[in-house]
Amino acid sequence: MSFSDLGLGPELLRAIADEGYTEPTPIQKQAIPLVLQGRDLLAAAQTGTGKTAAFTLPILHRLSTTGAPGPRVLVLVPTRELAAQVAESVRTYGRHLKLRTAVIFGGVGINPQIDILRRGVDIIVATPGRLLDHLQQRTVNLSAIETLVLDEADRMLDMGFIRDIRRVIQVLPKKRQNLLFSATFNPEIRGLAEGLLHNPATVDVAPRNTAAELVAQRVHPVDKARKTGLLAHLVKQGDWQQVLVFTRTKHGANRLAEQLARHGINTAAIHGNKSQNARTKSLADFKAGKVRVLVATDIAARGIDIDQLPHVVNHELPNVPEDYVHRIGRTGRAGTAGEAISLVSPDERQELKDIQKLLRKEIPSSVVPGFEPGSQPTAEETARHAAVKLPESLPQRAHRPGPPRRGGFGHGGNARPSRDAERRAGKSRKVH
Ligand code: AMP
Repeated sequence: MSFSDLGLGPELLRAIADEGYTEPTPIQKQAIPLVLQGRDLLAAAQTGTGKTAAFTLPILHRLSTTGAPGPRVLVLVPTRELAAQVAESVRTYGRHLKLRTAVIFGGVGINPQIDILRRGVDIIVATPGRLLDHLQQRTVNLSAIETLVLDEADRMLDMGFIRDIRRVIQVLPKKRQNLLFSATFNPEIRGLAEGLLHNPATVDVAPRNTAAELVAQRVHPVDKARKTGLLAHLVKQGDWQQVLVFTRTKHGANRLAEQLARHGINTAAIHGNKSQNARTKSLADFKAGKVRVLVATDIAARGIDIDQLPHVVNHELPNVPEDYVHRIGRTGRAGTAGEAISLVSPDERQELKDIQKLLRKEIPSSVVPGFEPGSQPTAEETARHAAVKLPESLPQRAHRPGPPRRGGFGHGGNARPSRDAERRAGKSRKVH
């Protein structure tokens, strides 16, 4: 399903394309059609799931297709940062539309906000406290609000905003659309939702805690260039027999499969560029134990259902934190313990932070000896990488001219290095 199937107008599709989004996230797929229909919505979704666009895009669409004096949309959020962020998203997605947005929060002068409100706006993004100040001073009129969004409602309640929220709701028109987003649901949130929402549709894309809790998760910090070497080391050292490895790109999946093969590990890759037949065969070989490592992109992995998959490895962290939960959900199924390892390079710090925020916990982290960030690669890794970077020198392409392969393992991609060679490689690493 693509964004154009969701019923959004061309200006919004253009803005989405400008952002480089190619596919709606799960919450966007579910929520956008419902919001476009005018339904009330109860959505369980954390930051990082694409929830902001999930409500902003359909709201902008509705505003752009019917003209009326504003403000017509009110988004309540718990913090100034989130207010600024949501308003930024509204402006980004609405950049090809002529809609005006005001951001209202405390801790800054009220007069500039009054000026903006006086000139007329379509959308207000606000924290509850400062919005109440404006209501008391009669510098804002909310009698034309058609849609109310409570974003991160659980945090607003945690921060003690419940009474402020109720006071704001009292001055809104009775007939309106209500959207409530919350990461967690306790009796207080449910109480708020019951009083607020009319026949709501529910959307739940929150990670199921039980699945995530069954899986032993671990982060191994490592330099980007050494991830493949570390993965090969883990597979061999742990004698892992069935490993599903995720990469971000099809190209990355191919390259990794090739490199692992050079480490003597039986590997296959599945992704969108492979024929269905090739994918089915790789998957069957993997299930049968003929292929030890299956490298997959997120999309290709959707259909994979393997019971008791013992090891899942994130060679790269996903862009969308929710994908992390989907990935690790491949292991630890049916009550068996599984292990999910993430190889995280320094440039992925932000992705890791976002994932931990989504999980609401820190993932234990440990450095694998010999693969400390900043340390030198082993002789074996250097040899494997040289082989990949100089493909013309490989025996199977011997008809092409090229320099002889460097390193001590010049037996072609599928040959296993001798135990001695592995040991030598290990030794030279320790000496340096
Ligand atoms: P949110 O959950 O709203 O905080 O969004 C998380 C991040 O995902 C933001 O940086 C968005 O720009 C990004 N994002 C939202 N929707 C998509 C999408 N369909 N494809 C890729 N990135 C997206």
